[in-house]
Amino acid sequence: PESRIRSKRCAVIGGSGFLGRHLVEQLVARGYSVSVFDMRQSYELQGVTFHLGDLCDKQALLSALQGVSLVFHCASPAPASDDRALFQRVNVDGTRTVLQACREAGVQKLVLTSSASVVFEGRDIKDGKEDLPYAKKPIDCYTETKIQQEKLVLDACDKEKGFLTVAIRPHGIFGPRDPQLVPTLVEMARGGKMKFIIGDGSNLVDFTFVENVVHGHILAAELLRPESPLCGQAYHITNDEPVRF
Ligand code: NAD
Repeated sequence: PESRIRSKRCAVIGGSGFLGRHLVEQLVARGYSVSVFDMRQSYELQGVTFHLGDLCDKQALLSALQGVSLVFHCASPAPASDDRALFQRVNVDGTRTVLQACREAGVQKLVLTSSASVVFEGRDIKDGKEDLPYAKKPIDCYTETKIQQEKLVLDACDKEKGFLTVAIRPHGIFGPRDPQLVPTLVEMARGGKMKFIIGDGSNLVDFTFVENVVHGHILAAELLRPESPLCGQAYHITNDEPVRF
């Protein structure tokens, strides 16, 4: 029973964010008890404890990871901040700290929220598979650090040591409480900036409903076992067809 209780305890780093909160709500609905680790607390929910801190601080992380066997890492500075030093500190150095803290706390599984942009070279991708190479020229410095972050996490997968990792790559996420995607489109439309088309209007872009992204994360976590092909792999996640934009 002790191991069963432990296996239903998980932590969500970035659990106060848009995706993180949806993930936490779904985990609670599935009977998990959840520790949220984030710089801020944006809500309250039964079955959820909040640990406030910066993920670059290993000691702070360690206290949130006590007794936790499964960790979701979905914290990142906002891409719009365009702050190279911050992306490097949090997404790269901070992810190394997360990995260290996980190993020290005896965590068994880590699910990373990566991004589909890690394989985007500026040309349309349709039906892109996970064997596409990482972008040689990432579209921005945020994506540069998402590539490094994903490599760090997938390389850390070690069946012998009993530490398994997997990454989920969504592109644009939409759904209730989205702070970015739809509000930005609305703001641009209000400002009259939706009159311009870059290209001939046939550029492809992919959006995924937040609950599908959450479902992908939970399936990955639950199916991640030493014998499963998920170990150390990244998975694209999408709704169905990309849209023309
Ligand atoms: P969000 O900004 O809503 O949430 C991110 C959370 O991380 C915030 O609550 C923030 O406080 C926390 N955070 C940031 N830096 C931290 C630090 N140093 N220590 C502790 N907590 C910190 O973002 P989101 O849209 O929910 O994105 C979640 C993840 O999904 C990110 O990894 C992002 O790269 C990825 N992603 C998002 C989208 C999208 O369209 N929203 C698309 C692809 C990938």
